[in-house]
Amino acid sequence: MAKSAEQAAAPAYVIRRSKIQGRGGYAARAIKKGERIVEYLGQRISWAEADRRYDDTKVKRHHTFLFTVNNRTIIDAAFDGNDARFLNHSCDPNCEAIIEKSRVFIHAMKDIRKGAELLYDYSYARDKNTTEEDEKLYKCLCGSKSCRGTILEAPKKKKKVSAHHTASRHTAKKQKKTKGDGRKSGSSARR
Ligand SMILES: [Zn+2]
Repeated sequence: MAKSAEQAAAPAYVIRRSKIQGRGGYAARAIKKGERIVEYLGQRISWAEADRRYDDTKVKRHHTFLFTVNNRTIIDAAFDGNDARFLNHSCDPNCEAIIEKSRVFIHAMKDIRKGAELLYDYSYARDKNTTEEDEKLYKCLCGSKSCRGTILEAPKKKKKVSAHHTASRHTAKKQKKTKGDGRKSGSSARR
């Protein structure tokens, strides 16, 4: 197990402009598969508060700073967030988000060479109300060969694995409807 002190001494990544979108995180050194790279930090808020903050009927752009922890809590990295919020999505990621005791950590899924962009699959939760319009709003720009065209989770893949971001469009009310519908804990935080 890597010690956090070591990681603090040798930062695993730097933030700089990304070809995919805005800023991104890039490996500042070789990162080993399984290494914990950073915790996803931000204000911990309720679904109701996320709804209050972000009204998706009025916005053109999605809110990539929300991350579902469980059915009570969302992390809003727009407030008190750290650099983890700049890590971009890819449909062919080299990192994954793992929820541990209600905290979110970004881990390397594979060995990552120095200079590579750190990417994980946001897998925004879909539900019955997800429309083609949503798919467009959450268009993916990752450019990978396996790109599914949207940062929404792949449709009808119910067993999976990684934790994911929150599409604020899919909050409180809709969320209840989808309980047990592939979203563990009635939220988009599945493991
Ligand atoms: Zn993609």
